[in-house]
Amino acid sequence: MDQKKIAKLIKSLLHEIEENSGREGLKKTPERVARSFEKIFGGYDKYPHELMTKFDGESYDEMIICRNIDFYSTCEHHLQPFFGQVFIGYIPDGKIIGISKLPRIVEIFSRRLQNQERLTMQIADTLNNMLRPRGVGVIIKGRHFCMMARGVEKQNSLMTTSACRGLFKNNAKTRSEFLKLIE
Ligand code: ZN
Repeated sequence: MDQKKIAKLIKSLLHEIEENSGREGLKKTPERVARSFEKIFGGYDKYPHELMTKFDGESYDEMIICRNIDFYSTCEHHLQPFFGQVFIGYIPDGKIIGISKLPRIVEIFSRRLQNQERLTMQIADTLNNMLRPRGVGVIIKGRHFCMMARGVEKQNSLMTTSACRGLFKNNAKTRSEFLKLIE
């Protein structure tokens, strides 16, 4: 990411919305925005498989759950933030990963231009491909600025998406156990 180029673009954006980019409060805004993009769009050059250390799960074959993983992402349709929480569950088939790696996977995919449906699927498919578990389920509950900012009545709207693979898709008992555990 070229910080200088981005700052320049933000400056002309300010100009286009009829702002005075030279006024006190806005003087350093282009540089600030450029710096914040490093974080907000920092997921592009990162790949989850590089940070995955897999462990032998011995004979553990019950569901592993990680709840309430905070995420912050940017909606690709409106360039507005969307944010909320991710819930992940999987049933290993020999291989497990450190529980702290799950939020890292969420971080990589959310720090890009996204839609919530794709974000949900990318997390599920990444775990599915890496661990070859017996099943994996991902649920995301998100609030979208592009929805919230359009009317008072939509301020509390919450969007829920899910992606299920393996037993989480095919087995009703597994699926309902997952939903119960993340409540
Ligand atoms: Zn949007």
